Amino acid sequence: MNDSQDLPHKIYGLDRWGKGLVSVLPNGDVALSNPLHPDAPKVSLPDIVKDLQQRGIHSPLLLRVGSFLKHEIVRINESFQAAIANTGYKGLYRGVFPIKVNQQAQVVDRIIEYGRPYSFGLEAGSKPELVIALAHALEKDALIVCNGVKDKEFVRLAILSRKLGFNTIIVLESPRELDTVIEVVEELGDEPLLGVRVKLTNEITGNWSESSGDRSTFGMNTDQLVAVIDRLREVDLLHCLKLQHSHLGSQVPDVNDVRRSVSEACRYFAEMSREGAPLTHLDLGGGLGVDYTGEKKASENSVNYSVEEYCTNVVETVAYAMDEAGLKHPTLVTESGRAVSATSSMLIFDVLEATLFDAGDSPGVEEGDHHLVSDLAAVGGYLNHTRLQECINDATYYRNELRALFRRGYIDLRQMARAERIYLHLTARFKETARIAENPSEVDAHLERLADIYHCNFSLFQSLPDVWAIDQLHPVVPLQKLNEPTDRRAILSDITCDSDGKIDSFILEDGVHPSLPVHSLSEDETYYMGVFFVGAYQETLGDLHNLFGDTNVATIDLLPDGGFDLLQEVEGDTISQVMSYVEFDPRDCVDAFRKMVDGAISTGKIKARDRRELMSAYRDSINGYTYYE
Ligand SMILES: *Cc1c(COP(=O)(O)O)cnc(C)c1O
Repeated sequence: MNDSQDLPHKIYGLDRWGKGLVSVLPNGDVALSNPLHPDAPKVSLPDIVKDLQQRGIHSPLLLRVGSFLKHEIVRINESFQAAIANTGYKGLYRGVFPIKVNQQAQVVDRIIEYGRPYSFGLEAGSKPELVIALAHALEKDALIVCNGVKDKEFVRLAILSRKLGFNTIIVLESPRELDTVIEVVEELGDEPLLGVRVKLTNEITGNWSESSGDRSTFGMNTDQLVAVIDRLREVDLLHCLKLQHSHLGSQVPDVNDVRRSVSEACRYFAEMSREGAPLTHLDLGGGLGVDYTGEKKASENSVNYSVEEYCTNVVETVAYAMDEAGLKHPTLVTESGRAVSATSSMLIFDVLEATLFDAGDSPGVEEGDHHLVSDLAAVGGYLNHTRLQECINDATYYRNELRALFRRGYIDLRQMARAERIYLHLTARFKETARIAENPSEVDAHLERLADIYHCNFSLFQSLPDVWAIDQLHPVVPLQKLNEPTDRRAILSDITCDSDGKIDSFILEDGVHPSLPVHSLSEDETYYMGVFFVGAYQETLGDLHNLFGDTNVATIDLLPDGGFDLLQEVEGDTISQVMSYVEFDPRDCVDAFRKMVDGAISTGKIKARDRRELMSAYRDSINGYTYYE
């Protein structure tokens, strides 16, 4: 790839993946746009980071942008309303946010606030999530949809919550769950609002294909559905069955899959209605995807449709199917999580240092050096673009032979160090030569493997678990200097001591690359990186690998005049907090350390006056941030 010529920021493809939310200023800073006030000046992200830094909120930092979250909620609701109006659909849209996608209070609270004009509700996939949902005053016609495996306690709470005016719907996942519901209904004497989860057979492609089709672990097949309907009629509860739930999957890449699945869901809706179920709500679950790469194609990290197109497809398909079946248009429900929350958070961290796989200069060959050292050095003499591949082959051969000689004791440490340094300098020249024109793919691959390692202040396992677990791609970009040509390529490694703790897949303008164009680091300025669209699933799937805890979090709102407001700040975990997560009592640890210090004083190993320094070093650490400070 020929990067680094004019318009350096082009190479990062922000125009493609930035969604009009993220772009570059003429001064080279990455900037955030205010989607709610398109005329507002863009805000420099490095300026936001510096401002937060001054307020004591340091990187690594999760930055939430309330304006982005609101924008997505407005968009999905208004797109459904527009599709309903354009299609002449006779039903309503009532979306719910699946809490599992981002359970953080500051996110859930804002979603409810921003969704209020649309009676946006919540989806609870577990008892704890229902408990969270019920702590929020929702609009009177907003829904709470309860999915997941339910015990009596869960069902009891769901039914009783209706007394407070909540529209809590219990979605039956299995015939056995109906027995639980019947028991509780008999006990309470109150009626439930019920739904049934129907397993669709249409399989969806993409990363989450297993959540669709026959082998999906949730939902009922036709045989079970019939059993449930019969049983409901038998216990005189069929009139409570109002909702059909059919989860399309997650991050559905192809909009035609949406049509096929929705159309299959409608068949069940029509058949169950014919059986006498008084269904009024059709819930199509999640699946509305996010175009992480900006490629607009049906692949794992992209989607070939917009939110508007998704909504139109759903509404049209349902309208057609219901008209065909002669049924009233139901209220449409979706449980879009990713599409609501992904774009609203970004992870920001600083680069701590770099391991370079090339060198700016080279030592000379010394007298007594093995002839292979001079052979290696001689490669530089015939290097040009036409002979680049040959030169790489030669240099690699000589270097490997020299390593073999070193291992066998024929070459000493200083001579080996000279040889390695000559090789690294040659590599710098290879990289420079490779920029001139197209290269054989083997050459590019070789040089990619010699990209720098930029060591960064974050934990992949804590903050970007899907990058580790399922090769999820997020846009990654340096936050500054994008008006200056890049002179290096790097992969990013985190500060855990796990070799998996790295990012080595990057979305660039012309596709996905194994390294990221970056600038050389300079001593006197912090080089920040941003990972975008991390607001869905990343936060609570993260773990405490090496006991790196939650990062600092700041929620901001972009203002119409181009400034921003700090709405909320949550300090990241301290070391003592993560210690208690793994059942160490920090006070016991301080005590144990103090005893060792006192012991060392009694045996004369240290002086009494050393005690204060040792104890405060231990205490400062235990009370501090888990990341590099
Ligand atoms: C996970 C999940 C969702 C959210 O899916 P997205 O693809 O994030 O929109 C919705 N409904 C159910 C039942 C889920 O399990």
